[in-house]
Amino acid sequence: MIVIIGSVNMDLVLRVPRMPLPGETLAGEKFMTIPGGKGANQAVACARLSAPGTPVAMVACVGGDAFGRQMRASIVAGGIDDSYIDSIDGEATGIASIMVDRQGQNSIVLAAGANARLDIEHIERARAVIESASIVLLQLEVPIPTVLHAIDLAHALGKTVVLNPAPAQALPPALLQKIDYLILNEIEAAMLAERESDDIPMLADRLHALGARNVVVTLGEKGVYGSFAVAGKRHQDARPVKAVDTTAAGDTFIGGFIAALAQGRGEFEAVAYGQAAAALSVTRAGAQTSIPSRDEVIL
Ligand code: ATP
Repeated sequence: MIVIIGSVNMDLVLRVPRMPLPGETLAGEKFMTIPGGKGANQAVACARLSAPGTPVAMVACVGGDAFGRQMRASIVAGGIDDSYIDSIDGEATGIASIMVDRQGQNSIVLAAGANARLDIEHIERARAVIESASIVLLQLEVPIPTVLHAIDLAHALGKTVVLNPAPAQALPPALLQKIDYLILNEIEAAMLAERESDDIPMLADRLHALGARNVVVTLGEKGVYGSFAVAGKRHQDARPVKAVDTTAAGDTFIGGFIAALAQGRGEFEAVAYGQAAAALSVTRAGAQTSIPSRDEVIL
């Protein structure tokens, strides 16, 4: 069982000829609603990329609105157990309002909505499913006290705790001692390591010194640097592909990496599987729409 504790967002994507100026009204070109949120994306990636029969459950909050019903339906359609997803009446489902111009530049506004309501009680209510998990995966798009409580609980229960500390923010230093796999991009690595540097092996060593047992730094089209307590340290190149949209590349990588770990694969094999899945995802548009299934990934 893989349990994901995190955010659910509906992405409202509007293509525009250019970004509007303050006070200006502009005609948009195309509007799409695409299921997203780092938590839900990673849950869908875990489910699509896992071996058949691997149970995946999500602990989250959605609003009691149409987006909430749609998001739950898409999570269930992905084969994920939604028993621990709370629908909160009178609250809005989290959204990301995204404008994309003809140059491919993004402008994004997030409204956390129901994600901000995920609290310690939700985690306690999900104790049974966390107890039955082998891997517990978290990100930082839900309240930090909730994340800290869930990490304490999962660690105390002896679970493999995976943290993707995104969006980047400062965390209590002692937290990293409870993390088995810290999976993060260069910006998040520099922030958590409190070093302004692009020396990735140095940043990873610093994160180990702060307590993280295993560190995986994703470097976009430059690949991944894996630094594992047992398997060792090395850089692994990304697959060369023609990128169309890199949204959710990181989420797809994480889902693939965890799905492979859950199957008992070695860590660098898990990195390769995550990279193969992420490379496919960047050749397609959208967040959850771009995540491939296990059958599509060729190693
Ligand atoms: P996001 O927040 O957009 O999901 P991220 O910053 O968390 O992204 P990245 O480091 O950009 O994550 O990407 C994760 C992995 O996806 C990379 O390590 C790489 O393996 C793969 N990837 C990303 N971009 C490309 C690309 N242009 N070509 C091939 N692989 C890519």
